[in-house]
Amino acid sequence: MRTKDALQNIIESSSTEFYNQLPRGYQPGNTKYVVVTGSVISGVGKGTINSSLCKLLADRGLNVEPIKLEAYLNVDAGTLSPYRHGEVFVLDDGSETDLDLGSYERMIDKNLSKDNFVTSGRIYQTLIQKERAGEYLGRDVQFIPHVTGEIKSVVRNLAMKSQADVIVIEIGGTVGDYENMFAMEALRELAYEEGQENVCSVNVTYILEPGSLGEHKSKAAQLGIKRLIELGIQPDIIVCRSESKIDNKIKEKISLNVNVPLSRVFGVDDIKSIYALPIKLREMGFDKMILDTLDMKIGNNGNSKLNAWTEKNQVPENADTVKIGIAGKYTGSSDTYMSVIKAIEHATAAEGKKFEIHWIETTEIEGKKLAVERALEGLQGIIIPGGFGKRGVEGKIAIAQYCREKKIPYLGLCLGFQIGLIEFARNVCGLKKADSTEFNPNTAEPVVDMLPEQKKLEGLGGNMRLGGKEVAIKKGTRAEKLYGSTNIRERFRHRFECNPKYINQCEEKGMVFSGKHPTHPIMQILELTEHPFFMASQYHAEFTSRPLKPSPLFSGFVQACIKSTK
Ligand code: GLN
Repeated sequence: MRTKDALQNIIESSSTEFYNQLPRGYQPGNTKYVVVTGSVISGVGKGTINSSLCKLLADRGLNVEPIKLEAYLNVDAGTLSPYRHGEVFVLDDGSETDLDLGSYERMIDKNLSKDNFVTSGRIYQTLIQKERAGEYLGRDVQFIPHVTGEIKSVVRNLAMKSQADVIVIEIGGTVGDYENMFAMEALRELAYEEGQENVCSVNVTYILEPGSLGEHKSKAAQLGIKRLIELGIQPDIIVCRSESKIDNKIKEKISLNVNVPLSRVFGVDDIKSIYALPIKLREMGFDKMILDTLDMKIGNNGNSKLNAWTEKNQVPENADTVKIGIAGKYTGSSDTYMSVIKAIEHATAAEGKKFEIHWIETTEIEGKKLAVERALEGLQGIIIPGGFGKRGVEGKIAIAQYCREKKIPYLGLCLGFQIGLIEFARNVCGLKKADSTEFNPNTAEPVVDMLPEQKKLEGLGGNMRLGGKEVAIKKGTRAEKLYGSTNIRERFRHRFECNPKYINQCEEKGMVFSGKHPTHPIMQILELTEHPFFMASQYHAEFTSRPLKPSPLFSGFVQACIKSTK
């Protein structure tokens, strides 16, 4: 009854204080919602719990869609520094999102789109555009109901478009942040309008364990969850994250203080591998409990599929370790290269090996403080990942040269492709001044130059060559062998490319362009034949790597690393 009344408000919204734009044909109850918020602190694995939940629901045969509501005012993640915010993850449709979308894609093995990632900036952009177009019909545009209305709209539009059984909504940040207040408010409204049985609210909190006390303390969690209740959101389920296992007493305190039955308070302590999380949550009855609160009775055919998946993703403790060097710019945080690390993990796990990453600070090589030989000592292969700007580039070129000459496996990704090309042009083709116009706009030999279509664009936001594109692979090359196909699709994010003027010169000296744009002379994969493994892609091969389906380029690279003698 309550749902019906609330919906009546929606339907009459044009003439009332309500502002709701239901997509045509929208039927509440067709899609159920799980709203996940965080309390106490961020960075304790809310995204990992959500992606595991998506995996568990998908494992039961449900059509699941995640959506992340990000609080910041940037329209997308494209202009964010990966040093501050982690990598920019690019979706097939060209959306530049944050790394959580990568976690979702990898976990549920599904391509997501711009509909799955919405920032406050994008909500406000829509709002202002509508206001300028006079779409608010003389009304003053307000945070409530208009901003909250837009947020509910993006969620419901996703429901209609995807026809999902369940949408898992993640609100970025933690309860109490000013930035995500309107998202919280919008989802409070959504829960009210959709009805109790259609929305399940999960709060991921954190249980402290101060070293000086040596015991768990639940007060911060209680206060954090109470803050959520003050906002009008009564959680149905609590997940207590902690370093070590919490006992029942802690769960009881949480239950008592925040009106959640003890059976719905779950404890999730730190685990070594995220692949072990879905099955662990299943064993606790987590997804079953969520489905119960949503009034969904979905059976599953036992855990055999999930067990096999978990098993295949684990590498034995005593397995050999592959030592890989990453020559990147942002070496302060591993989040900066999250997908590259994940792709290494997928490829090494497929070979039954563990891996170790060594970060190489290329500015030190550039400044001659560190010899290339020393920097690469003991490493079985080197990756030069994507990057922007001039800093550290000469160090990277020196590394590429060393790898080429000493036959050390080399994998270049985007910028790493351009580095490989510049090095080859300088030291094999004899074009001593070869450079990219990104680093030296007046270079005499612009072997890497701006894409013609990029020259016309201005500003830095959303103006790169972005997203999934077809790549034609040349027959008989290593690329064809690795991909097992002559037509692939990979994801791009770049402004510069191999200057077509230099293609012949490079090919004459033995460089093989094994991947090209299907119709234009845009080079997309390069490889050297007389080398155990020297390959680079203009695209980001890491974005499409998935557990149990490693990126072919990473597989080839890791196999070569294993074969290398060091
Ligand atoms: N800076 C280079 C370009 O814009 C490479 C970009 C990247 O590595 N993502 O083309």
